[in-house]
Amino acid sequence: MLLNDVHSQLNPTTVAWVTRPTTLAALCEVVKQAKRRGMSLSVAGARHAMGGQQFAAQQGHVDMTGLQHVLHGDAQRGLLQIEAGANWHHIIAASHHMLAPGGTSWAIRQKQTGVDEVTLGGSISANAHGRGLLMQPLGADIEDVTLVDAEGDVLLCSRTQNAELFALVIGGYGLFGLIYAATLRLVPRQRVRRVVDILDLADAMHAVYRRVDDGCLYGDFQFVIDPKDDSFLHRGVFACYKPTTEPEADEAASADLQPEAWLQLLKLAHEDKAQAFKLYAQHYLSTHGHTYWADTMQLSTYIPSYADVLNSDQPTDRAPGPRQTLVIGEHYVPRDQIAAFMTQAARVLKAQNVEVIYGTIRAILQDDCSFLPWAKKDYACVIFNLRTFHTPQGKARTAEAFRHLIDAALALGGSYFLTYHRYATRAQVLHAYPQFETFLARKRHFDPQERFTSDWYRHHVALMGHSR
Ligand SMILES: Cc1cc2nc3c(=O)[nH]c(=O)nc-3n(C[C@H](O)[C@H](O)[C@H](O)COP(=O)(O)OP(=O)(O)OC[C@H]3O[C@@H](n4cnc5c(N)ncnc54)[C@H](O)[C@@H]3O)c2cc1C
Repeated sequence: MLLNDVHSQLNPTTVAWVTRPTTLAALCEVVKQAKRRGMSLSVAGARHAMGGQQFAAQQGHVDMTGLQHVLHGDAQRGLLQIEAGANWHHIIAASHHMLAPGGTSWAIRQKQTGVDEVTLGGSISANAHGRGLLMQPLGADIEDVTLVDAEGDVLLCSRTQNAELFALVIGGYGLFGLIYAATLRLVPRQRVRRVVDILDLADAMHAVYRRVDDGCLYGDFQFVIDPKDDSFLHRGVFACYKPTTEPEADEAASADLQPEAWLQLLKLAHEDKAQAFKLYAQHYLSTHGHTYWADTMQLSTYIPSYADVLNSDQPTDRAPGPRQTLVIGEHYVPRDQIAAFMTQAARVLKAQNVEVIYGTIRAILQDDCSFLPWAKKDYACVIFNLRTFHTPQGKARTAEAFRHLIDAALALGGSYFLTYHRYATRAQVLHAYPQFETFLARKRHFDPQERFTSDWYRHHVALMGHSR
């Protein structure tokens, strides 16, 4: 069976078989059978990672999306235990069924921006983050995980029970066991008001502190993507969200663009970047002052078949061009280095002649719960979606651009996200993740037969020079 990731579609992988268990017993049996047959397993949620973390060529493959049930809701403490194949729509709906003391319902604190169908298991395995201004990555919101280990046995892992495994599983890319379920810490649901500014980067950091002092909980900065514009990467739409008690006339109002407008904007970002930013800024400015629920405000429009629409939208009088998709990279720098990084990034992107289709700056607080943290400090997070043609030159150009961007981030005391690709060199991996070799050693300790594997794991084992 040929599987691929959803967004970049650059990881076609033939696996031996796919199974989609729907009970814990069946999940354990998959691991036990794999052990009897001497096979390894890869595991996927919604297949949005882009470095081959969820696939292993010629091995068995576990699709977790059949496991999405609520197991337990503690409405007193705001704890929701749910199966790990649940995506954010399922999780948000389940949290709304739990009434917090005081009568309001519970809600998630954060989720990824830009995609909702990703699963809880996949989100924990990448230690994902949202657009909180003062939040640690998702691991901070996880009370415990129920893991099926390499023997097919069930283990509860938390900060106090099997604590080392807990830290390894958060951001552990499925290498330490199958996450059957997790308990998510919720927050009382609240409404927020959107506050929008068009700002230069130089002012944006001050604006962030001002907004935080003012009580804003969420925010991001979407920057200019037109390299011909003098403010390329340095001017942007800064949207923040401040708690409010005022209700909105339309309680169900969506905070994001409708699908048609989203696609139109995406096309414009390929064809007329100046106009795309103008429209985007107009949309945001027109929603200044609108109020939303803080949890559903984080839902986003995303069309998984976006690439088919772009690729089919070519002039009929010409031979079709090569297939193209977007590849994401995320880079972290200490907050006071953000302007220096963006100046370097603008140089890299122009020199490498790659196109940014969209990009954002967000904030993160230092992670204190995962073994392999990407948020090693309080960082500014810079995300680039690069247009990538599926030709050898197109792929090489994107890879080279990301390597340069990682170098720029590292030189400023930063890091990069492991989930989006595997272009980093050995030196870059070790610079950003000094404990990477220990991480691999702990993997072999907990899973000596490599029952859980992936092409991403094999790549990194080879990169580190270990024999498998
Ligand atoms: C358009 C887009 C926007 C994004 N935005 C953000 C963002 O704002 N913030 C952010 O942090 N990330 C973001 N991401 C990255 C995303 O959060 C991660 O790639 C996440 O892992 C995807 O979840 P998934 O369910 O698709 O997992 P998959 O891609 O299916 O798997 C990812 C990893 O998790 C493992 N895994 C999945 N389920 C389980 C399980 N039950 N048990 C054990 N291991 C498991 C897999 O083996 C693999 O290693 C974005 C990605 C895309 C494509």
